[in-house]
Amino acid sequence: MDKVDLHVHTTASDGTVAPKYVVAQAAMLGLKAIAITDHDTMAGIKEAGEAGEMMGVSIIPGIEISSDYQGREVHVLGYFLDPDAPALQEYYEKSHAAKRERNAKIIEKLQKKGFDITLEAVEAENPGIVFGRPHIARYLMKLGVVSSVSEAFRRYLDRGRSCFVGRELIPFAEASALIRKCGGVSVLAHPLQYGYKRSELDALCSAAKDAHFSGIEIYYSGYSESDRAKLFDLAEKYSLLPTGGSDFHGDNKPEIKLGGVEVPAYFLIMLARSQFN
Ligand code: AMP
Ligand code: ZN
Ligand code: FE
Ligand code: FE
Repeated sequence: MDKVDLHVHTTASDGTVAPKYVVAQAAMLGLKAIAITDHDTMAGIKEAGEAGEMMGVSIIPGIEISSDYQGREVHVLGYFLDPDAPALQEYYEKSHAAKRERNAKIIEKLQKKGFDITLEAVEAENPGIVFGRPHIARYLMKLGVVSSVSEAFRRYLDRGRSCFVGRELIPFAEASALIRKCGGVSVLAHPLQYGYKRSELDALCSAAKDAHFSGIEIYYSGYSESDRAKLFDLAEKYSLLPTGGSDFHGDNKPEIKLGGVEVPAYFLIMLARSQFN
């Protein structure tokens, strides 16, 4: 059966592997298609698309938008959108400005702890992108303050930790409206990562349906058979298509492998068809 991976990050956001090398890996793994879903940017799509053409891997243009759902951060995946759509340009600018402002505040807090870190130094390590907490985490690793990205989050950067700073996020339904306006379809990302109990998860799926989502991510790194069964029930209840992907980030999430979750190609075909519904 043909396999795809519909949730992949690159160096355009917080992955550690450049788009063309991600595509090369996908080709070696025999994946038919991958969707590049970087956080709040589609800057990696062009390079990935060109590599995909050479290497025989279809590249689905995607994005992962961090949205606000009732005060919590919920991720919305968009597929098949036009990276150059004016509404998206506006969104990149807004969200990147919010990230820059927040980065400065986080780094100030880290400096107060006595760490030898500056905005300029982290920028220099990550040229050409608007960086986020994972890049700050890697810089703390470089300083020898922590030994892994996850330790940096656990000790300093996670919500509730001493150097956490929030940022304003686009409302959940608006994220979907934006994706659809730019020709795309919306999918609820990793529904079990938000710490919701069953009734809350049901309400989230209901809200996704109301916001014209097409699908829900059911195959995901670490999700068990019973997790999937629970999510398939919700997908059926709210007429959402099943989708899936690994959430590959290279060394920033070393336990996650590209194509590590076996996603059948027909998930992608059904999602592509939903674009025209
Ligand atoms: P930011 O965009 O700056 O809010 O960073 C959020 C990103 O950091 C998420 O999308 C994840 O990819 C990553 N992240 C969040 N928590 C962790 C963690 N505990 N360990 C590793 N990466 C994380
Ligand atoms: Zn990420
Ligand atoms: Fe996510
Ligand atoms: Fe992701």
